[in-house]
Amino acid sequence: MDGTFNENDLSRVVEADRAHIWHHLIQHKPFETNDPRIIVEGKGMRVWDQKGKEHLDAVSGGVWTVNVGYGRESICKAVYDQLMKLCYFANSAGSIPGALFAEKLIEKMPGMSRVYYTNSGSEANEKAFKMVRQIAHKKYGGKKTKILYRDRDYHGSTLAAMSAGGQDERNAQYGPFAPGFIRVPHCMEYRKHELDGAPEENFGEWAADQIEEVILREGPDTVGALCLEPVTAGGGVIEAPEGYWQRVQEICKKYDILLHIDEVVCGVGRTGTWFGYQQYGVKPDFVTMAKGVASGYAAIACMVTTEEVFDMFKEDASDPMGYFRDISTFGGCTAGPAAAIENMRIIEDENLLANCVAMGDRMTGNLQALMEKHKVVGDVRGKGLFLGAELVADRASREPVDEKLAQAVVADCMAQGVIIGVTNRSVPGRNNTLCFSPALIATADDIDQITDAVDGALGRVFG
Ligand code: PMP
Repeated sequence: MDGTFNENDLSRVVEADRAHIWHHLIQHKPFETNDPRIIVEGKGMRVWDQKGKEHLDAVSGGVWTVNVGYGRESICKAVYDQLMKLCYFANSAGSIPGALFAEKLIEKMPGMSRVYYTNSGSEANEKAFKMVRQIAHKKYGGKKTKILYRDRDYHGSTLAAMSAGGQDERNAQYGPFAPGFIRVPHCMEYRKHELDGAPEENFGEWAADQIEEVILREGPDTVGALCLEPVTAGGGVIEAPEGYWQRVQEICKKYDILLHIDEVVCGVGRTGTWFGYQQYGVKPDFVTMAKGVASGYAAIACMVTTEEVFDMFKEDASDPMGYFRDISTFGGCTAGPAAAIENMRIIEDENLLANCVAMGDRMTGNLQALMEKHKVVGDVRGKGLFLGAELVADRASREPVDEKLAQAVVADCMAQGVIIGVTNRSVPGRNNTLCFSPALIATADDIDQITDAVDGALGRVFG
């Protein structure tokens, strides 16, 4: 693979992009003078841009997606064969890969039972929200409609998903939002000093107790569900502290509240288990997933629930309003589940969950060494190959560094041929957490190349 690209085509592509593409999540002004970046090719852990420059991708396609790496022939072949056989039929009918992937997925999720295919992670979350609302009408006289979500968590870009969005930076200027979504405090140990009354000891239990306080304030008979990320992604790569999940589960049980775990980032291997919640002994009622389900080889997302929830929608077949009256056009695409079956087989056959744990440990160790060396690194955290390093101007006060400096570190890594990310979208202008999510196939050399690049960048940006 030399990454070369026909020069004539290249200038045409760049001009077409500049003229017609509205890129996601970025300001376009710089493209008036600089070329937009076009990613042309990918193989394994690496991608090549329009200039033929090779990059080690430490963020799996930018947003935690390409978990098994680029250029997997067996996935492409499975998709091709399936598309030639049947590309699509609305999911009111079944399909062979749809049924077989659901069977394989449920094997990995004891206690869960039903798979609802959707277009995107946002939409998968919205399906669960709609089910909660319908259950409130069916079972609780229309009362238990409120959905709790957590400060710093993110559940998608559509308006109801944003209504459950705990990242103020993303939500600013897009309101008003849907009613009935109630925020609970975050559980971030490193920033607990920002929470009134947070204790030094047993912070995890205390943070979960704050959820109970919100439930009591709102009225337990009005709260239908609690929606949480297992490890918060864009909000700063945050793993809940000891004691948190056990209390969360108790609280949900006590007040008859459905637990919705958003695995859009953690799902299918990213933290070293099939799902993030499985690390914490939690029994969810809804699990949503998207990015890693087929590693980006085809668009697929799903909402998975229990037989108990499913039964509520079929028990009274004579009620014309009783079933889940919802559709998602591309939930009937067969390419997604065909790719997802092969994606899961690769993770199993290549033992990638174990590699994720081993490489995650190595990367954590490397980042901790950087923390010793660079005082700007205030915290290193995460799970498996889903890691963050928070940059602070002052370790004692934990004041975040200026976002522009964090971006300068990302740009310096990019110049060295390593793509990393920056996040923490809770406070506008304070995106100060470097984030890393290399593919689960990463080798020790890849990991060291990533952290060496960060080491060099921190030295240059902060001296
Ligand atoms: N939930 C989480 C935790 C996410 O990180 C994202 C996407 N970044 C979503 C939901 C939304 O997924 P999508 O962009 O596929 O709608």
